[in-house]
Amino acid sequence: MAIDRIEVFVTDLTIRLQREISSGAYDTGPTGSLIGKPVLVKIHADGVVGYGQIRPISPGHFMPDTVHGMVSAITEFYGPRLIGKDILDFESLLTMFDQTLPANMNARAAIDHALHDAAGKALNLPVYKLLGGLCQPRIPLEWSVGLASPEKMAQDVHRAMKEFGLSVACLKAGGKGGWERDVANFIAVRESVGDNVAIGMDPNEGWTVSEAIRVIKKLTPYRLDYLEQPVKRQNIAGMAAIRREMNGIPLMADEGLMTLADSYALAKADAVDVFCVKLYKVGGLHAAKKIAAVAEASGIQLNIGGLAVQSQLEAAAGAHFYASSPEHLIMPAAEFVFGVGGLGPDPLVPDSDFQVKDGHVTVPNRPGLGINVDERALERYTLKREAVK
Ligand SMILES: [Mg+2]
Repeated sequence: MAIDRIEVFVTDLTIRLQREISSGAYDTGPTGSLIGKPVLVKIHADGVVGYGQIRPISPGHFMPDTVHGMVSAITEFYGPRLIGKDILDFESLLTMFDQTLPANMNARAAIDHALHDAAGKALNLPVYKLLGGLCQPRIPLEWSVGLASPEKMAQDVHRAMKEFGLSVACLKAGGKGGWERDVANFIAVRESVGDNVAIGMDPNEGWTVSEAIRVIKKLTPYRLDYLEQPVKRQNIAGMAAIRREMNGIPLMADEGLMTLADSYALAKADAVDVFCVKLYKVGGLHAAKKIAAVAEASGIQLNIGGLAVQSQLEAAAGAHFYASSPEHLIMPAAEFVFGVGGLGPDPLVPDSDFQVKDGHVTVPNRPGLGINVDERALERYTLKREAVK
């Protein structure tokens, strides 16, 4: 199944998502503007078509890819080297990625997902069958809560529980007001929603080691369920020092985990209990499976992150990865609720049964990623297109 053509589309979103996090604003931008919009890759190989879509989260966050960087990486660098290659040669393509541009993970993930979608369609198998087979078809979802007043954060969690049936929430932290404000936010939310919701905290690198330790001590009586990337991504020793003070509360690496080498370094330093795997961050499904092996060998669990804003394709890739992972390897609740109805329908996939229900989603079992992109909607919402032949 040789790749003969690759198309790249930057597509519009119908809802602008703006949230505050410690590193700045998470913003999908106004309608019609390219910045903040998802990039869709369409790979043609011997009559089969595969789709992958990733929204670069920059600016104001930790990933170097931008919309323009992704399009350039795919059309000028990775794309020409993919033409003529077999869609199933994931391992040699990974080597090509490393040798061509080492760190454009968003671009790689979009390509990797399109390759998996095409391969699944060619073999008439859902993608999870290409990833080791089915372990968990029904996937619990979590709700990520942006920085706001304690009342607003609590309201957001109540809405997630009532409207979508979710029972896991992650509160952003590390904003103005310092760690004491974060502690107050957490206590207010916990007291408002009670003990039936698992609540984690994510300062997105916004604390120091000593601040993180003080927060843990303050929040242990209020059942902090996990803590995500409190300090700078490079500070592995700091993560290990924090973990020693956690009293069994799981510590998760997010920004600190992008590559296979990162996963090994974190495991070797006994720095974390959980890896947050976001497919856009690690470069797609094939790379994520390698990180999963390091995690399994090290007694580390995986959490499936990535908001997948209005993207059925991005959410589906996360679902196939989750579904193919054994229960003991996963810390429950995946983050992609905004791709399965949590933020309105995907403009490219207006009719879909891949939707959140009772706080869960079921992995699509049709061939490939199992998502039918509406080609007319793709034409309508395309802001920019390129092709590689
Ligand atoms: Mg995070």
